[in-house]
Amino acid sequence: MDKRIYASYGQRPAELVKELLAEIDAAKDIPSGARIGLKPNLVVAKPAREGATTTPELVEGVIQYLQDHGHKNIAILEGSWVGASTQRAFRVCGYDDLARRYRVELVDLQKDSFHPRRVGDLEINVCSELDRVHYLINMPVLKGHCQTKITCALKNLKGCIPNQEKRRFHALGLHKPIAYLNKAIKTDLIVVDGLNGDLDFEEGGNPVQMDLILVGKDPVLIDSYVAQLMGYHPSEIGYLRLAAELGVGHLFDADTEVVVLRPAENTRRLSPSRAVERLARLVQEDQACSACFGSLIHALARLGEQGLLQRVPRPLVIGQGFRGKTGEGFGIGSCTRGFTSHVKGCPPSARDILEQLAGLK
Ligand code: SF4
Repeated sequence: MDKRIYASYGQRPAELVKELLAEIDAAKDIPSGARIGLKPNLVVAKPAREGATTTPELVEGVIQYLQDHGHKNIAILEGSWVGASTQRAFRVCGYDDLARRYRVELVDLQKDSFHPRRVGDLEINVCSELDRVHYLINMPVLKGHCQTKITCALKNLKGCIPNQEKRRFHALGLHKPIAYLNKAIKTDLIVVDGLNGDLDFEEGGNPVQMDLILVGKDPVLIDSYVAQLMGYHPSEIGYLRLAAELGVGHLFDADTEVVVLRPAENTRRLSPSRAVERLARLVQEDQACSACFGSLIHALARLGEQGLLQRVPRPLVIGQGFRGKTGEGFGIGSCTRGFTSHVKGCPPSARDILEQLAGLK
């Protein structure tokens, strides 16, 4: 399996994703006439800016790429979480409009039939629509989760099972069934919406702007990279290890290559939620790239969860405005290399920031 992840930073999702797909020549793996399933995350009926759902412009870029390569049989598949209406999510999140403009099908998996697929000692009911799909593109949001810490590619497939199975997954503790589900359903390509995913809840409310899009073919590799971007070690996410043991993919390691097509830049900042603003008060910022600032916010949130926010050194500086400057203080990212100490990287991952901050006495 390809041990590369492709990344671009920016605020033009359709353009950036087309560039990434062209870079990996995604079309070469898709059989002619294939029915292609796009699986966004539309867990609730909230616009993408709130941090829970996949940005429609990102899906639009994927559709444009596929149609430009002659693929016309495209369906957007989703079953929102228990208690939410997928139809409403399609409307509120902008997918009704998208489907109309590009003549793609919208499939509400909450209304689909299902049948069991066996993986080891577990039988999992999977929506029948998945049998009709020849090539599956998983389009999750990079975001936090109150039970599993992160949710991204592996957990996004939970939208492909019926509601009663979703309830059973919770009763089974989530980790094992999520890993096994990814053995039952093969993902061909992953496009991660890391533009503005939530800090700690899958239903959104505290989006953290990172302006990031990731593309890869290995959901375990992608998710273990994402775990680090959010301040976790992959071993802290139970389903990652289980999925790797099942052969779903490889954990991120020293052999993994992250190919960055468009580096982080200082982009227009969206207005932060109250929780993000509270963490941002600890920071002295001057022209920070959103990705760098987002990493720091994730790291501070994790530090706060451990009750260690009092360890945050002052001043804590970040941003291109500190390039070439020297001084007392703790810096985030290579722009602040002139300060007493700094976390290397451009941008550094939340995991790297957290390790250095947590190590301070
Ligand atoms: S180190 Fe500087 S240039 Fe690099 S992501 Fe951070 S702020 Fe941007």
